[in-house]
Amino acid sequence: MLIKDISKYAGQEFEVKGWLYNKRSSGSIAFLELRDGSGFVQAVVVKAGVGEETWANAEKLTQESSLIVKGKVSKHPKQEGVFELQVSDIQVAQIAEEYPITKKEHGPDFLLDNRHLWLRSKKQWAIQRVRDIVISAIYDYFHEKSFIKIDTPIITPNACEGATTLFGIQYFDEGEVFLSQSGQLYLEAAVMSVGRGFDFGPTFRAEKSKTKRHLTEFWMMDAEAAFVEHNENMDIQEGMIKFIIKRCLEKCQEELTILERNQEPLKKLLNLPFVRLTYSEAMEKLHSLGSDIKFGEDLGNDDEGLLTQNSDVPVFIHKWPKSIKPFYMKRDSANPDLVLNDDLIGIEGAGEIIGGSQREDDYEVLKAEIEKEGLKGPEYQWYLDLRKYGSVPHSGFGLGLERTVGWMCGAQHIRETIPFPRLINRVRP
Ligand code: ATP
Ligand code: MG
Repeated sequence: MLIKDISKYAGQEFEVKGWLYNKRSSGSIAFLELRDGSGFVQAVVVKAGVGEETWANAEKLTQESSLIVKGKVSKHPKQEGVFELQVSDIQVAQIAEEYPITKKEHGPDFLLDNRHLWLRSKKQWAIQRVRDIVISAIYDYFHEKSFIKIDTPIITPNACEGATTLFGIQYFDEGEVFLSQSGQLYLEAAVMSVGRGFDFGPTFRAEKSKTKRHLTEFWMMDAEAAFVEHNENMDIQEGMIKFIIKRCLEKCQEELTILERNQEPLKKLLNLPFVRLTYSEAMEKLHSLGSDIKFGEDLGNDDEGLLTQNSDVPVFIHKWPKSIKPFYMKRDSANPDLVLNDDLIGIEGAGEIIGGSQREDDYEVLKAEIEKEGLKGPEYQWYLDLRKYGSVPHSGFGLGLERTVGWMCGAQHIRETIPFPRLINRVRP
């Protein structure tokens, strides 16, 4: 029996195996808020209606004590659709010591030091459940679109996103190798076998910046598809974001309510096309809004905010200058100074959620780009091989799971969206 199913037991006996989340007692009646992992329920203990031992147990329960409670399910006297438990018996599994996390406000460092306990708080519980729904939505979207799951390696000898954020590890006689910054290059190889694929795994970047949107270990979903070009690549991304949002609205009503998430902006964007601005158009818009960004610079946090501040929908910024983008991105045939890439900026301050591009598929061009970046060696030969044996136009993108979950939940900092965050100054617990 799980609390999430309690409505099916109206009028019947029910058993909760879980923890005490909260308690109020007047001396003759006690209200216990119980949680079992699947949900929360109020249990009512009437002193005159239960045995002495059960009342004594109710009295001594402390926050987070573990217990088994039996009783009859009844309708809440005031709240429609809410059920509670009229308690007949309480068995204590363990009386918890004084719990460090109470109802009072705690600072972020204290909460992060106690992350192993903080995870039990209602909002944190809700965020992890939204995360689970986002993950399953991604799998379902891609399977519907005939992409299959491909597991790319985490230990790799090559850099995909720039050498400055690599975590090195000593690998036997090989010397230094790295933790993956993205599975993309391997996924490109795999889709030349399976046509359309996605990976989903931990990703590591030694980010020196302390922002609300950077972790050093985060989960990324990379997708890649053969014969998909730039515009279709953006269509797939837009479809995925709408699919995720729709799923969250369907499945996470309780969680979003706990998180006090205003759902209107999410509902609204489902029926609207996302905005697509070229990098040049974005520059013009930024200048008209007073930004002093220069052509050829990356967008900062503030720029992303300006570009989306009055938008009901996420904004694609596409066709960036080649000079600031990685070697594998394909040049725009209409203007070879630009590449066929896109960043998707979420609304409500979510920031960049996705980075994607069409990949260079010409052997000689790609070889020259790799050499220009000083990336030589056998690590890149296999990648070049893909352009020798049946090369095809292909595109893909990477979605940051924590940024997506943070946006869905309205979280201020993405560190709350992963169970045990790793940041530049935090590896514990
Ligand atoms: P940013 O400019 O914000 O650092 P990026 O351009 O380095 O992002 P990509 O390399 O395109 O990001 O990675 C794809 C996606 O992975 C990003 O759009 C973002 O959602 C997510 N991501 C990238 N770096 C991090 C990080 N350090 N922590 C959490 N998510 C990240
Ligand atoms: Mg980055």
